[in-house]
Amino acid sequence: MMNSTDIQKKDSKYIANTYKRFPIALTAGEGAAARDPEGKEYIDFTSGIGVNCLGYADRGWADAVAAQAHKLQHVSNLYSTQPDTEVAEKLCRYTGFSKVFFGNSGAEANEGALKVARKYGIEKHGEQCNTVITLNNSFHGRTITTLSATGQDSFHQFFFPFTEGFKFVDAGDIEGLKDAVDETVCGIMIELIQGEGGVVPVDAEFVKEAACLCKEKDLVFAIDEVQTGIGRTGTFLCYEQFDVEPDVVSLAKGIGGGLPLGAVMMNEKTGDVLGFGQHGSTFGGNPVACAGASYVLDQVMKPEFLEAVRNKSEYMRKKLLEIPQIKSVTGLGLMLGAELEEGMAAGEIAGKCVEEGLLVLTAKTKLRFLPPLIISHEEIDRGIEILARVLKG
Ligand SMILES: *Cc1c(COP(=O)(O)O)cnc(C)c1O
Repeated sequence: MMNSTDIQKKDSKYIANTYKRFPIALTAGEGAAARDPEGKEYIDFTSGIGVNCLGYADRGWADAVAAQAHKLQHVSNLYSTQPDTEVAEKLCRYTGFSKVFFGNSGAEANEGALKVARKYGIEKHGEQCNTVITLNNSFHGRTITTLSATGQDSFHQFFFPFTEGFKFVDAGDIEGLKDAVDETVCGIMIELIQGEGGVVPVDAEFVKEAACLCKEKDLVFAIDEVQTGIGRTGTFLCYEQFDVEPDVVSLAKGIGGGLPLGAVMMNEKTGDVLGFGQHGSTFGGNPVACAGASYVLDQVMKPEFLEAVRNKSEYMRKKLLEIPQIKSVTGLGLMLGAELEEGMAAGEIAGKCVEEGLLVLTAKTKLRFLPPLIISHEEIDRGIEILARVLKG
């Protein structure tokens, strides 16, 4: 087996320089702990950015994936298979949505959601009706169109020309939102907690108003639950806590439990917008990814599983707030952000945490925590103990 240094050397030689990686390599994991080739253990407060919701190498998930890989790893979308139908059925039954389209990532799911919004608008209200309102400080993905949808100037560089047809408003600015809705607008797409934007929850009244406007003006209300979905915020989907009913929801990250899978969920209003030949994805609904997802959904949809997430959230929030250098904690469930004392750089702290055996994320000026949903109280304690030590300096 290669050691850490060899892996990192080969990585920087052959892999495109798009990620500023921490100087470690990981080769195995169990629960909420990962290991490097030398056997050093890292408590994982990241789940691979909200992906490994059942932690590393969950036995049931791995068995489901392996069994499917031994049977049928892929067929084209010209034929039906069992695993994707099961995942779609579980999603629809739980949420009340009527149709699911499967892709492979969050950006791809949002592309699907945007196509639904545009086609709906154009068909219902005419060709001029093709603009989607998104929020300033949002993040919706890395394709040219989802970069366009992302309400942060830093993402609107280098790759011109970007896709037209987006308008941005500030989260919470109800008047601004009302003003932005004109005859060119076909939909509104928002995150409920802006994850990459700094774990910033969006005001509930604003979200309700957005939903109302969409109903009133017959627009598509789309929620990007790529990061907040699949139990991450303590309910199966985050919108359950906002008392709204979106027309479209995009999912990815946690749904595959670690394999690439994305989904667009559509309700009765939007479920038949995309017709034959109007959307597709070679790998979308891959049987192996869906066999894993089906297992993930069985676990995460259990009321006691979600209750445990909420309990651990309260526990972790309380523990974080006991650390003197943490000024505030934002977020819901196991999607938490910590604002640090003036002058403390989150990136630097994250680097020191890694050295000490704790994986954490950053979002803007904050530390961000997305531990696996199955993390134990004891693992939370171990991680918090490392964090407190690092912050103390
Ligand atoms: C991560 C993320 C995306 C992009 O997902 P990818 O799988 O990286 O394409 C989109 N929206 C939100 C809210 C995200 O957190």
